[in-house]
Amino acid sequence: MPANLPNIKLEPDCTNCAAYCCVALAFDRSNMFAYDKQAAEPCKHLDKAHSCTIHDDLDTQGFKGCIRYNCFGAGQRVFSEIFAGRSWRDHPSEAQEMFDAYRVMHNVHEFLAMLQAARKLNLDTAQISQIEAFETELNPTSPWTSATLIAFQTCGTFEEIRAFFTGLRDRV
Ligand code: SF4
Repeated sequence: MPANLPNIKLEPDCTNCAAYCCVALAFDRSNMFAYDKQAAEPCKHLDKAHSCTIHDDLDTQGFKGCIRYNCFGAGQRVFSEIFAGRSWRDHPSEAQEMFDAYRVMHNVHEFLAMLQAARKLNLDTAQISQIEAFETELNPTSPWTSATLIAFQTCGTFEEIRAFFTGLRDRV
C-alpha cells in the first residue's frame, strides 16, 4: 500500500473479487490466448466460484496472457467498494455496469501504479507536483461509483497522464 495513498492497494486480491478480468475483457486467439473470447463473455475455464479451472496449467494450455495480466487491485475494489460484494453471476442486470466500471478502474489503478514508479525517478518539483495532482484526481475524496468512473474515462485525465509519461522519457 503506497504511503501517499493509504487506502489504495495496487496488487490483485483474487480471493476478494468476482473474476472480472476473466469475463469483462475480450481476447483473441494468439500465442497469449488459446481461443477467441468476446468482452462480457465468461471464459470457458472459469468455474461457478470465480476460480480458474486451469490455473496451474495456464502456460501449457496456451494462456500466457492470463499469467502476464495484472489488474493492479482494481478487481477487488470494484467488487467490494462499488458493488458491495455482488457478483455478475447473481446480478446479471448489473453485469455490464460492473464490467464497464472494472475497465475504467483498471486504468485508474494501472496509472496509480505507474505514478508510484515515476516517483522513484529524478524528477523536478513541477513534475512531482504534477504526479500529486494526478493522484488526487485518480483517488477522489468522494468514493468512486460506477457512474463517476464511466464519466471519468472521457474527461481527458487519462490522456493528460499519458502525455505526462511521454514527457518523462528522458528521465528513464
Ligand atoms: S484461462 Fe483462467 S485466468 Fe485466464 S481468463 Fe480463463 S478463467 Fe481467467
